[in-house]
Amino acid sequence: MTAQHTPTPYSVDDNPRRTRVRILNADSAWTATIEIASANTQEAKDTAAFIVRACNAHDDLVAALRVVDCRCAAASGRFAAITCIRCAALAKAGAA
Ligand SMILES: [Zn+2]
Repeated sequence: MTAQHTPTPYSVDDNPRRTRVRILNADSAWTATIEIASANTQEAKDTAAFIVRACNAHDDLVAALRVVDCRCAAASGRFAAITCIRCAALAKAGAA
């Protein structure tokens, strides 16, 4: 199953008048709301910025890992428990 999500790039709308930090899509439309400790704190803003950076970088990072040649056991499909950092990162990204 392929996950469906709002296309990137995302950005952070940290309008101080709001009680929650919003993540916006490329059309500046509301994609998600970040709420940590039920307040619009610096931590919530930093977390939203981190999420946005991770989402915006995801596809390029997965593409970069896929061009790296790997000969570990996980890549060959023989021993999934024995893996390198590349294959572990792809699995964690849901792109293995
Ligand atoms: Zn590997």
